[in-house]
Amino acid sequence: MDTLVALVLGLRRALRRIGPFTLAAVLAALSVLDARWRPHQAVSLGIAGVIAGAIVWRALRRRSLRQADDWRDAALGMLVVLGCFDLVTHLDGSLDGRFYPVVYLGLAAVSAFAHPLGALAAVAFGAGLELALRELAFGGLELAPVAPHAGFALAFGVLNIVLLRVEMARLRRASHGELRAELRRVQEEAESYRLLQAPRETAHGDEERLVRSAVEEIRLSVLFALTLLREALGLHTAVLFWLDEGRGSFRISELSSDDGDLAEGPFGTGSGILGAVLAQRAPVALADIHASFSLPYYRGPAPVGSVAAVPGFEHGRLRCVLVADRLDPRAFSARELGLVEQAARLCVRAVRNERVFAQLERTKVDQGKLYRAAQALAAATSEAEVVDAAVASAREIAHVDFAACTALDRQARRHEIRALSGDGVEALRGQRFEDNTGLVSMALKSGHALPYKGIFDAGQQVVFGKDLAPPPMPSLLVLPLFLHDEPLGTLVLGSRTPGGFGDGARALLDVLASHVAVSLSNARLVRKLEEQATTDGLTGALNKRALLDTARDRIAAAKRFGRRLSVLVTDIDHFKRVNDTYGHDAGDVVIKELAQIHIRAARTNDAVARFGGEEFVVVCDETDERGALQLAERIRAELGKKVFKAATGESFQCTCSVGIATFPDAGASWEQLFKAADAALYASKRGGRNRATLWSKRHHVAA
Ligand code: GH3
Ligand code: MG
Ligand code: MG
Repeated sequence: MDTLVALVLGLRRALRRIGPFTLAAVLAALSVLDARWRPHQAVSLGIAGVIAGAIVWRALRRRSLRQADDWRDAALGMLVVLGCFDLVTHLDGSLDGRFYPVVYLGLAAVSAFAHPLGALAAVAFGAGLELALRELAFGGLELAPVAPHAGFALAFGVLNIVLLRVEMARLRRASHGELRAELRRVQEEAESYRLLQAPRETAHGDEERLVRSAVEEIRLSVLFALTLLREALGLHTAVLFWLDEGRGSFRISELSSDDGDLAEGPFGTGSGILGAVLAQRAPVALADIHASFSLPYYRGPAPVGSVAAVPGFEHGRLRCVLVADRLDPRAFSARELGLVEQAARLCVRAVRNERVFAQLERTKVDQGKLYRAAQALAAATSEAEVVDAAVASAREIAHVDFAACTALDRQARRHEIRALSGDGVEALRGQRFEDNTGLVSMALKSGHALPYKGIFDAGQQVVFGKDLAPPPMPSLLVLPLFLHDEPLGTLVLGSRTPGGFGDGARALLDVLASHVAVSLSNARLVRKLEEQATTDGLTGALNKRALLDTARDRIAAAKRFGRRLSVLVTDIDHFKRVNDTYGHDAGDVVIKELAQIHIRAARTNDAVARFGGEEFVVVCDETDERGALQLAERIRAELGKKVFKAATGESFQCTCSVGIATFPDAGASWEQLFKAADAALYASKRGGRNRATLWSKRHHVAA
């Protein structure tokens, strides 16, 4: 059934594909037959009408599709070419008349709009159609006139395609260029208005939008002030020049003028009316201006009779000059000058307001980022989760491609790379390095983020250790993590973007680091509590409760997979005597030492626990009696070799006894296995101590 449906669907798709071509072929055949026999005018008109209808139908269909393709364009192109030929044969009655260029026109139209392959298919179709018409309708096939027609048609098609594509590429490039120039201009304006936090800082989308709308607002306010001034004082031109201190020039901030031919600038600060206002820091007004007088913003001689230029100040600094001129040679009155001065003040205030507004907006955005960061960090309970949350938050602030969290072990004067994020950095996990002169060590010592401005040179600077480096990136920042002056470690962020950690981003990342420090310290506290809940305080081995959980899981697994498993129980011989003779502290030292001996002797996968006062239990996966006995002998031999020193200075030695039980022979549950191992231990004690005994059936009887 499915194949049938697929077949029908496939057939439908194929029909849909070849349908328009079949239509073109049938109509072409009709058109050729019509040209040969010319049956009746009505029939000819009918065929022409159907061709025209088909063209319109295909063209409309092409428009309704979001994307045209070569197939559809080829079919439409063929119909258009057919339409042209039909028209030519009707008008000329041959293919060599004066209307033949209509075919070229049709081809030009097709190659202008169609995909290249579609256009070429239309050219080929045209050549075929011409051959058919000549052969069947116009008295025999002659190659002589066909060849130039086909050659022309092909050249037309190809040339059109090439020219059109080149023109489109040029237009696209030009519009890209204009867009970039516009963005650069806005950026420069924003810098001169001091709207940006730092010059040329890589702006994120938000920042760019914010700055663009601020510049636009300033332009609107200034233009409004200038237009109002122009209307009120009957001015020819009112123009605001903004001083670009970095470049040492004036540029036009906004202007309102009757004149269409004004210079764009920038304008020098050393001479002319602008230079005079800058030098005197006071208004300059001129009347009865001579025809040859020039003003910097007019390309030729100034067409005006009088001019007034007034400075605009911000906190005592000259920021701009507002110039007003008019055709009337009459001097500006004191009242008029006062109005110009007020307009200049208004313009300065517009800039200042926007700056404050931009700063507020920026603060709002920053606070949002930090708020989200604080929330994510508060929810993180493990070190890995803290780093994940920290990296996600840092990514809102800057482009972060690499992140690592290092932990400082103050006693060992060593750092460890604890958590990582980024591609191909897994090898760094768990690596340790000395407290050295690398950036991580220095950042913790100085309490400041390093390197300076986040500019990193992988060839010169060491981050972790000499042989331990993050992927080389142009931007890197090591943020020290402190909790109440206590150094915890660092958060290392790397970015492939040059200048990825600008001033604004660094300030925010500093705040983020303080949140991260708190969360990290909490995560470590949680881990410590968890460890305390499962380990024995004196020895660091598992405690009884944790061992019971582990042992039960492992016995269940051994059952499931049919594996062997052994339980060892160790007990120090005559331990009461040690306590009594050398004191409780000496006894504790022995217990700690025996724990270390167990941990060293066992495999990492074995569970080692302090089970009671001076008793230890080891649960060994996939271990039979022989393996367990070897382990027990190793433990016994190690303890036997050890010489302890009491507080009194006396030396003493200890021995221990071990009992071993193996699953499944000695028992199928934890309780049974432990009981069997304990029975074997009892046998060791009874047998004279300082020995290891494997459980056997008779021990149960003896116990
Ligand atoms: P045996 O050879 O039969 O085992 O003799 P023993 O004296 O070792 O007897 P037992 O195993 O019953 O001894 C338990 C003693 O271990 C009792 C207690 O004084 C001592 N003990 C238990 N816990 C601790 C501890 O945390 N520190 C110290 N120093 N001694 C402990
Ligand atoms: Mg005991
Ligand atoms: Mg004992």
